[in-house]
Amino acid sequence: MSASIQFSYEFFPPRSPEMERRLWRTVGQLERLHPCFFSMTYGALGSAQHVSIESAIALHNETAVPLAAHLTCADAGPDQVRQVASRFAAAGIDRIVALRGDAAESAAGEARYAFPSALELVMALGEIGEFDISVAAYPEGHPQAGSPIEDLQHLRRKLDAGAARAITQYFFDADCYLRFRDRAARIGIDKPIVPGILPVHDLHRVKRFSARCGASVPLHYDQSFARVEKDPSGQYRLALDLAVELCERLQREGVQHFHLYTLNQTDICLDISLALGARLGAAPAAA
Ligand code: FAD
Repeated sequence: MSASIQFSYEFFPPRSPEMERRLWRTVGQLERLHPCFFSMTYGALGSAQHVSIESAIALHNETAVPLAAHLTCADAGPDQVRQVASRFAAAGIDRIVALRGDAAESAAGEARYAFPSALELVMALGEIGEFDISVAAYPEGHPQAGSPIEDLQHLRRKLDAGAARAITQYFFDADCYLRFRDRAARIGIDKPIVPGILPVHDLHRVKRFSARCGASVPLHYDQSFARVEKDPSGQYRLALDLAVELCERLQREGVQHFHLYTLNQTDICLDISLALGARLGAAPAAA
């Protein structure tokens, strides 16, 4: 593997015993690639927040790979969010992915957030402990962004407030990420913007989700996946090739760290990492 290439892998909390078994199998395989960190989402895709907390702590306890616990401001008050951060710190978790999240709307159309945005959460975390903080970035813009420049300026404020890096929403067009990285550099952002890579397990689901989060799916994906519609191994090969092609282009442009959205599936993330030069070793020993 190129000496400097690094991977991090994102998981979501399991919602059934079978999903839990699959998560541990995935973790067991991916830890052998010696990633720089694992991350566990918080309250995403309908997961209960308390399950996210327990899953993050369990993952931290089960593996020697550093764990970044996601934490959002959604559906909570400031004290509650501070308590969760303190609980992570007490459990030995010193990495946080600090997010605003998306609160559920009440019947009156109101949404409850502990802090107005992830910026204030980053600031609050600085008062609680010595966390290594990551924040979210949006190469295609966040759906609620006033304008692309306001979006970037907000990112810059989150980084200036103490975040060490940004991790991007997934994207499928390398140029879109590269243009975003250039624009970020032009306004003085000099911290890493780690590309989030989503292997396309299921094109229809990816398209549904992308419509909500503002990511675009290239038109040629429709034609390419249509050709392998009835061929699961062809679909797998195509998804693998597309992800590897994207990462290789980014690698040629100097990207050294890839954050893979695993959806708790081992095979494709393992194969992408191996294709990019990662090597399987023994699981890292616990400290
Ligand atoms: P913020 O950074 O607070 O703001 C989002 C956007 O709003 C900004 O990009 C900006 O355009 C605009 N904005 C906000 N405040 C200002 C301001 N003061 N001035 C100008 N513009 C402003 N969701 C979950 O529920 N759980 C997770 O675990 C989770 N993990 C994620 C991990 C990654 C890497 C990414 C990219 C997203 C993740 N999400 C998760 C989704 C995220 O919570 C949503 O996208 C949410 O809508 C925004 O969160 P944020 O932290 O980017 O918000």
